Amino acid sequence: RASAGEEANYPRWVRVNALKSTVEEQLETTFSKHIRAESIQDIVTKPGRHIYIDPHVPNLLAISAGMDFAKVEAYTSGKIILQDKASCFPAYLLDPRSEDGDVIDACSAPGNKTTHLAAILYKHRPEFEDAPQTIYAFEKDSRRAQTLEKMVKIAGSKSVTRIGFGQDFLQVDPTSEKYKDVGALLLDPSCSGSGIVGRDSMPELHLPDPPTENRGGKGKPTPASTTNKKKRRHEEIEEPAQNVLVDDDGVETVVKSEKDLEARLEALSSFQLTLLLHAFRFPRAKKITFSTCSVHSQENERVVIRALASDIAKAKGWRILRREGQVSGLREWPVRGVVEAAEGDETVAEGCIRSYKGDGHGVMGFFVAGFVRDSV
Ligand code: SAM
Repeated sequence: RASAGEEANYPRWVRVNALKSTVEEQLETTFSKHIRAESIQDIVTKPGRHIYIDPHVPNLLAISAGMDFAKVEAYTSGKIILQDKASCFPAYLLDPRSEDGDVIDACSAPGNKTTHLAAILYKHRPEFEDAPQTIYAFEKDSRRAQTLEKMVKIAGSKSVTRIGFGQDFLQVDPTSEKYKDVGALLLDPSCSGSGIVGRDSMPELHLPDPPTENRGGKGKPTPASTTNKKKRRHEEIEEPAQNVLVDDDGVETVVKSEKDLEARLEALSSFQLTLLLHAFRFPRAKKITFSTCSVHSQENERVVIRALASDIAKAKGWRILRREGQVSGLREWPVRGVVEAAEGDETVAEGCIRSYKGDGHGVMGFFVAGFVRDSV
């Protein structure tokens, strides 16, 4: 049975916070009564309590829905964090290392990815003896920044995180002395939220073709999927009452027509592009990840393509992080970007990582791409 905050047919994703615990410890304690599952499908189909160790993202577990975490010690003490698998992709893909220097999380609240970054950077040094690297976590909305602060504290990453309360990332000067050692940036800006599980209205208007294991390959949309898409559009436009687009940070836009939706997506897309181009300006940065919980290509591949074509990307030598250069778990993740949306560039599409809700992987709709450069 799914409890509040859970969706039927979805597992509960649990990230073990490497700053405070280990998968082994959690299997022996919090989840000692769970039965080890063979696959993610077992988690959602078999009755009873099951647990599955995720093969792609380190320290990630999937468990059967229905567990009430409110009084679970590991949860209240920050040893485990409830975080969708796809939401773990950006920090894992960024793969910050000691040689990368300081890290920026540009759009941080509520802090899932900020705390994940800290866990990756400091897992081998839980006491932060010398804390050589800082995570700058910016959040434009001061109220949301307070939630971020709480999460960073519970997760045990406070001493390495500098929170920018009410700080607009676009107002941060990349050439400031303070950020001279920033080598990696994680960008997870506001988006339409159309990939969030439990949201089924207007944002699905532009759902790309049904996911297949070889997405990002050479396939063209099948005639069947094109027909479905047209039908869905038609139905949605006839029911304007349901057409409210709620962004992932709660902004509501009434979308009465496809034109309205296009306008909203275009606004989000250019905001996302502006953020990405700003990130390109940090003088010592060599790695960036860009992510959304949207399924719309306007907010995803389109932003990537436009960013790569920009003067600043060319001047500074930024390029897509190709699939073969990615961390092993994500190199193996099968669902890739949409080739058509990447203007036919298969290398870019392969570099893009996607997920779609309801495709059998048990994750939310998500998108992430990495950018790298050699010289600084
Ligand atoms: N990364 C977060 C996590 O994983 O928990 C989720 C981030 S949410 C998708 C986007 C956040 O970016 C919102 O909290 C929003 O207030 C913030 N934001 C939007 N524009 C911003 C800007 N220009 N500078 C800093 N934060 C911004």
